[in-house]
Amino acid sequence: MFSSFLIKYGEIGVKGKNRYIFENALMNQIRYALKRCEGKFLVHKAEGRIYVDAESEFDFDEVVDALSKVFGITGICPVKFVDLCNPEELKKVILDYVDQVHQDKNKTFKMHVRRAHKSYPMDSMELNASLGEAVLEAFPSMKVDVHEPDILLTVEIREKIYIYSTVIPGPGGMPVGTNGKAMLLLSGGIDSPVAGYMIAKRGVKLDAVYFHAPPYTSERAKQKVVDLARIVSRYSGPIYLHVINFTDIQLAIYEKCPHDELTIIMRRYMMKIAESIALDTECLGLITGESIGQVASQTICSLACTNEVCTLPVFRPCIGMDKQEIINISEKIDTYETSILPFEDCCTIFVAKHPVTKPSLEVIKRHEKHLDDCIDELVKTALDTKETIIVSYDKRD
Ligand code: ATP
Ligand code: MG
Repeated sequence: MFSSFLIKYGEIGVKGKNRYIFENALMNQIRYALKRCEGKFLVHKAEGRIYVDAESEFDFDEVVDALSKVFGITGICPVKFVDLCNPEELKKVILDYVDQVHQDKNKTFKMHVRRAHKSYPMDSMELNASLGEAVLEAFPSMKVDVHEPDILLTVEIREKIYIYSTVIPGPGGMPVGTNGKAMLLLSGGIDSPVAGYMIAKRGVKLDAVYFHAPPYTSERAKQKVVDLARIVSRYSGPIYLHVINFTDIQLAIYEKCPHDELTIIMRRYMMKIAESIALDTECLGLITGESIGQVASQTICSLACTNEVCTLPVFRPCIGMDKQEIINISEKIDTYETSILPFEDCCTIFVAKHPVTKPSLEVIKRHEKHLDDCIDELVKTALDTKETIIVSYDKRD
């Protein structure tokens, strides 16, 4: 039935040169999303709109699912197109379309004909009247409502005839690639994949960094993070995931600093290292899954201490959310099931029984001095030995 999709996108703030950048980024992201679908597709702009034309057999649900993960799309309209035909033949096509696409005929509708092809024998007013009448005659339970129709039956007469009447909601947001790149601190938890998703939704490309601590954390814990990155990459496009071996830094902190400050000091080093990679890779900010008050290391005082090591902006989109709200998003984006797998992450092994909740920056800095003799070398080694995995969701599996 459908062989094409008209892609609707929000155009607020998308004017002039920005519009061109926005549309090209959107088309790129659509192409990326479609790579994992069976079939061949042409993504193109025609008369100021973006279309996805299927050039082979395809699975409708699979394509809609892929498109519904492309930020910037506000609506996906499945389109039937037919070759130009005379008004009598067009009537038949429309009746056939309504019959198949709208099984439930207890609906109101409005005809909406646009005629770009001015040589077509009837104008849009005449076509609205004659096609509308034909629908009413063929399906007596359908009624016309010109103000708030259930079905807006759109027929566009161009080089071909396009027919569409349903809009499947898209995810909204901005196409990835229109707002620079940021570095996501990705742990195996629930919050950070959600944080990455939310920032990618604003058009920001993602790279990620994961700190692991072998042998205290297992290969499976690392694989879980790779899997999470892969799920997020359905939305964000490919992610360069940097894996940092954090063991020696953690051990040094464990040996030399007060245990109730372990988490804060560790988090400060994570941020420092993440920022250093970010600066090397053209990332303009950092992203974390922190939420005020969730755990001791996320009280306002703790956040202030962690934040102090960075100069790049730190985006914390979960900051004002309750855990359940974050969980709801993680379920929606399909990261939840992976996030709750029980593999330990590096924080859980070195956590103190009674972590400070109101750390003093001055005291923390004083205690960090105990690391002076080794920390620069350890950070340098950690950076030099980082492993970078390119995580992408463009292959079918
Ligand atoms: P999450 O559910 O995202 O793991 P969390 O509730 O477990 O978060 P913390 O462990 O305190 O919270 O971590 C706060 C944030 O710090 C995480 O959201 C993440 O951005 C970052 N983070 C924590 N541990 C790591 C890690 N091992 N590697 C990379 N980032 C980390
Ligand atoms: Mg965590």
